[in-house]
Amino acid sequence: MESTKPAAAWTKNIPADDVITWRRHIHQNPELSFEEEKTSQYVEEVLKSFPNIEIIKPAKTSVIGVLKGSRPGRTVAFRADMDALPMQEETGLPFSSKVKNVMHSCGHDAHTAMLLGTAATLSKMQNQLKGTVYFIFQHAEEQPPGGALDIVNSGALKDVDAFFGMHVLPDFPAGHVGILPHGAASTAQDGFRLTIIGKGSHGSMPHLGIDPIVVGSAIVSALQSIVSRNVEPGEMTVVTIGKFQSGNAFNVIADRAELGASIRTTSDETRKMVEIRIKEIIDNITKAYGATYKLDYTPSYPAIQNDAALNVHARNSAVAILGKDQVFDGPMMTASEDFSYYRKIAPVSFMTLGIGKGAANHNPKFMVDESALQSGVKAQVQIILDYLNK
Ligand SMILES: [Zn+2]
Ligand SMILES: [Zn+2]
Repeated sequence: MESTKPAAAWTKNIPADDVITWRRHIHQNPELSFEEEKTSQYVEEVLKSFPNIEIIKPAKTSVIGVLKGSRPGRTVAFRADMDALPMQEETGLPFSSKVKNVMHSCGHDAHTAMLLGTAATLSKMQNQLKGTVYFIFQHAEEQPPGGALDIVNSGALKDVDAFFGMHVLPDFPAGHVGILPHGAASTAQDGFRLTIIGKGSHGSMPHLGIDPIVVGSAIVSALQSIVSRNVEPGEMTVVTIGKFQSGNAFNVIADRAELGASIRTTSDETRKMVEIRIKEIIDNITKAYGATYKLDYTPSYPAIQNDAALNVHARNSAVAILGKDQVFDGPMMTASEDFSYYRKIAPVSFMTLGIGKGAANHNPKFMVDESALQSGVKAQVQIILDYLNK
């Protein structure tokens, strides 16, 4: 037994069975980023079945439910994302994806269902609320430039004072809420595609060619010095060259090489510095070897910067409703999240929700222990109630 204190009266209003039904419906009918037409329609219909909720559509496939309390006060937003990934499901669940090569393998189906449960519960408490709640059902988290940016740029949320978000995460006990570090809580993910243009020749006549494999090798080696020599020790940074392709025959010097990289950083300063160093290294080494190049540097999402005070708030609320045994300090996520963009408007706090042992996010065997969803809804409702009423 974790706690003997009586449960908050409102917990009996959580539509626990509906949350599972909604989640399974969305799971069976996944849609890719920017294509969430049926999902957003479904969410809109469910939201319209609750009292006191107004609907805003800030982008083609996203939906925001607005709940205005009976008295004026602050404005708080909770965000769920709705998109799935291009992969074939291998869970064998009876409610597996009905769409070939599309699967909810990041748990956004669970996020959407939980936030619907939160909206359903709070919509019946309108007379107890001060201020306004925005329930954000966001499109296209998985696909840069990211749906969050569309919503931020739409101006629909410009009055929000605080943003919260929650992501399901395997290998933590089901229903346990993880408070992530304040400051960087996820990484920024950038990347580049590089084509090195050399000069092909016979393998026995290297002096007549410019070997792009030699140039590429020098570049790959030099790039390793960014993390080891330019970044402050201890600041998590990754530069990975995941792709290096060139040549077709062992006795031919190819005329070009293709490289691809993924870059993770946790601060804006380092992010800029790493980009500058990468460009300098590529430019100078190709010049030194007499080659030329084409570089396509693709910035993606910035790191989430969790606000310290909002983190404390989220922790206190989660402990109040779940008990302190079900709240833990989560490690920084090495993944990236477009939730980071909401910080352009107001402070943010992003947390995780354990869903039990199992395959990682983005794995075809990814599964959610559905008993976690009830805890997620409880924590979300409590966080919102406390933010508005304290
Ligand atoms: Zn994902
Ligand atoms: Zn995700």
